[in-house]
Amino acid sequence: MQVYLDNAATTKMSRAAIDAMLPYLEETYGNPSALHSMGQRAKEALEAARQVVARCLGAHPDEIYFTSGGSEADNQAILSAAAMGERKGKKHIVTTAFEHHAVLHTLAKLEKQGFTVTYLSVGGKGNISARQVADAITEDTCLVTTMFANNEIGSILPISEIGAVCRERKVLFHTDAVQAVGHVPVNVAEMNIDMLSLSGHKFHGPKGVGVLYARKGVALTSLIEGGAQERSRRAGTENVAGISALAAALSGATARLDENMEKVKRLRDKLICGLSSIPHSVLNGDRVSRLPGNVHFCFEGIEGESLLLLLDEYGIEASSGSACTSGSLDPSHVLLAIGHPHEIAHGSLRLTLSEYTTEEEIDYTLKAIPEVVARLRALSPIWRDKTEGKKPFLLK
Ligand SMILES: *Cc1c(COP(=O)(O)O)cnc(C)c1O
Repeated sequence: MQVYLDNAATTKMSRAAIDAMLPYLEETYGNPSALHSMGQRAKEALEAARQVVARCLGAHPDEIYFTSGGSEADNQAILSAAAMGERKGKKHIVTTAFEHHAVLHTLAKLEKQGFTVTYLSVGGKGNISARQVADAITEDTCLVTTMFANNEIGSILPISEIGAVCRERKVLFHTDAVQAVGHVPVNVAEMNIDMLSLSGHKFHGPKGVGVLYARKGVALTSLIEGGAQERSRRAGTENVAGISALAAALSGATARLDENMEKVKRLRDKLICGLSSIPHSVLNGDRVSRLPGNVHFCFEGIEGESLLLLLDEYGIEASSGSACTSGSLDPSHVLLAIGHPHEIAHGSLRLTLSEYTTEEEIDYTLKAIPEVVARLRALSPIWRDKTEGKKPFLLK
């Protein structure tokens, strides 16, 4: 059996998204800046997609900028707010310790340029409060950037409350909503969000296409110079097929949001409940304020990477939760941020579901994981020391 449980890393494209893409690859392949009618039809598709995205987010179409993905949107949002801040002499930014690297690395770059960044500490359940944000804002703050939901442990942040604090204190608020859009309700107007990043491939759209929402009045700095596309804020011929597919995927996800949330949550809870019976393990992230499709555990006495390789032999595609593409052995900054020691952080497993996940797949996974964990523990010298009482257990 093949079981794909790595939907936080990327998702399978929906049929509707693929169908929305094909006409712009096969027939209407004109450049949207061209004056001929094929180009104009491509331009119409682009603007139709912009309207769909705006409607799904509670924004105005003029506030939607298409990008090459979530990372680019995060970079552009943060660098634009920094440039606006610098013009007013404000060079302080508030964020959290468990952001995605697209945010953290952009902020590190700004720190080298003289900005100061406050990294809010994350509670044991992966929680951040609006109170922490309010306390961190100073006269010099030009931006608050917090993720909507964490990509590793799935905790959802109090975005409406943070938005209200930022609006009251007149500080720009950006949220990396890449894990949230298409999975939980998101409305930029109701939530007082000034800038928001999203990415097509996290909700059954294509890879390499994303959106930056920027409220009217936010002066975006372009990262890519060239033509006048995207109202001169993002040069380069638009990815019309990808953008049309993103809009179709988002429209589908938004239309089925309640139904999918309920379905996916039920399977998530079944998985959490079953895995909780494995001794010396812990569920990471908040039990309630949690993405519908996220399950994240640490198992004492095993290495997450070995667990992934064995699960792959069972046909189960999962993740340790940290994107250590560099092959570094550093444990996840997210798990360290919620207070786990290195030893526990190394034994992590992230299983992320989608609307395509079935009950049979969850049942199969629930049989496989306890077997695999037991096999790995039986081979582990540390585990032997713990069972013989030579080393203490860290998890119940
Ligand atoms: C995937 C992801 C990104 C990056 O999006 P890309 O489209 O892959 O560049 C940024 N932030 C979060 C929270 C993500 O999960």
